[in-house]
Amino acid sequence: MKNIPVVMIIFGGSGDLAHRKLYPALFNLYEQNLIHDNFAVIGTARRPWSHEYLRGQVSDAVHETHDKVNENDLKDFASHFYYQSHDVTNVEHYVTLKKLAQELDDHYSAQGNRIFYMAMSPRFFGTIATHINDQHLTSTGFNRVVVEKPFGHDLKSAEKLNKQINASFKEEDVFRIDHYLGKEMVQNILPLRFTNPLIKNIWNPKSIKNIQVTLAERLGVEARGGYYETSGAMRDMVQNHIFQIVTLLAMPEPKDLSSTSIHKAKQELLDSLIIPDDDEIKKHFVRGQYLGSDSTFAYKQEPNVDKNSTTETFAAGEIKFKKGPVAGVPIYFRTGKEFKEKKSRIDIVLKHRSNLYGQAHSNNITIEIEPNMQIFITINGKKITETGIRRENLAYTFSKEEKALIPDGYERLLHDIFVNDSTNFTHWSELKRYWQFIDAVEDDWRKEDKTGNPQIAQYLPYRMGPKEASNIFETPTEHWIYE
Ligand code: NAD
Repeated sequence: MKNIPVVMIIFGGSGDLAHRKLYPALFNLYEQNLIHDNFAVIGTARRPWSHEYLRGQVSDAVHETHDKVNENDLKDFASHFYYQSHDVTNVEHYVTLKKLAQELDDHYSAQGNRIFYMAMSPRFFGTIATHINDQHLTSTGFNRVVVEKPFGHDLKSAEKLNKQINASFKEEDVFRIDHYLGKEMVQNILPLRFTNPLIKNIWNPKSIKNIQVTLAERLGVEARGGYYETSGAMRDMVQNHIFQIVTLLAMPEPKDLSSTSIHKAKQELLDSLIIPDDDEIKKHFVRGQYLGSDSTFAYKQEPNVDKNSTTETFAAGEIKFKKGPVAGVPIYFRTGKEFKEKKSRIDIVLKHRSNLYGQAHSNNITIEIEPNMQIFITINGKKITETGIRRENLAYTFSKEEKALIPDGYERLLHDIFVNDSTNFTHWSELKRYWQFIDAVEDDWRKEDKTGNPQIAQYLPYRMGPKEASNIFETPTEHWIYE
């Protein structure tokens, strides 16, 4: 791999994301020579750490995520890290940061290339972007910015943030990161759809009854109640991860695999996204909050959560497109906290046509994103000794050795940022459509809140969410496949 010279500045260098994901992923890229001699990383945060302390943290982060580590490599890798105590709201601190970046650029011959990574609370993204612009932190080589989720709180705030970022960065240099797009099974959606005639030929409204996307979490909000109160499941999970997955499932076949062609196909689809009206939202959407059991808090009793909160810890709904290969096919989603298990999966439910063997049976295609990475197709055969239908799964799985080779989503996406490949990042025009959809649902729910009688389904923890989610389907013959 080519060694890419760069100075990378991580805002939020003492945070959870940097520690658990970014440092280990950067180490793996270093081990593959993508970044090697000519790179420096500046970690910034408010704490008064030293360079040495940050290097110790980076070392710990790598040890925590790797079974075997080459200690000499790790020592050299960590020596490229520098710490800058920095309050993102303080103008003076950007002047010091700029000076350090320039010194490191000279020292490591980084050719004026910069990557700015916003790995901290989203409420600071606009502030950082404005200071980068006002204090001229960009340099003479490439200047890329990575923005974590959520990108805005609604369309209006996303537009404002975009403007602040565009003051210093061209659209093609803005990498709006969604780590779901780096996951192995999410990256398998397009090959599955377009390289298997068996599947490609049935990817249409004549054959597909509905598509179901479930992103279930086992944990509650834990210590993040304060943040969650400003977000909720729609903004935290649907606006980004679920919409990204749905877009891959419904987009037309791109002309080729270039970033331009893929984004063109996505945009073509998203132009035909149906924004639901209040009536459709009442019929096909459910919001919910988890209740307590002996061992847990109900959502409203969690720390930093309003006792009268209407923030949803569960959301289910329907997404539909006017055009594309599955135009008009209902795509149902649900996501929530305190489900019976952590699971991300997609079920493609095929229409059944024959009652020849009693009750008609459908074939389903299931893509399990995590925890087990696999695809299976449910096949119907005959029972061996009695009459009736036996259902078995044909599975596409990975061996233990193959699993060990699969990079973490962040490693893949950081690699893409270094080599300037924006295929798996969200373009502004796509994000805009996602927000238009989310805003329509949120507006309807806020109106309902004002009536004093909000319809928020309550659900018991560690099961499958509220029972009301079984009523969102268009026809009585539809139901959730994953129960
Ligand atoms: P975190 O709270 O653990 O870290 C926040 C960082 O910001 C810390 O380094 C903190 O010191 C720093 N900070 C806070 N106020 C500051 C200020 N005024 N000036 C300078 N630094 C300040 O948050 P996190 O979990 O690392 O999340 C960061 C971003 O990554 C968020 O946008 C989140 O949505 C996204 N994200 C996180 C994860 C994850 O696994 N943690 C996964 C996906 C996306």
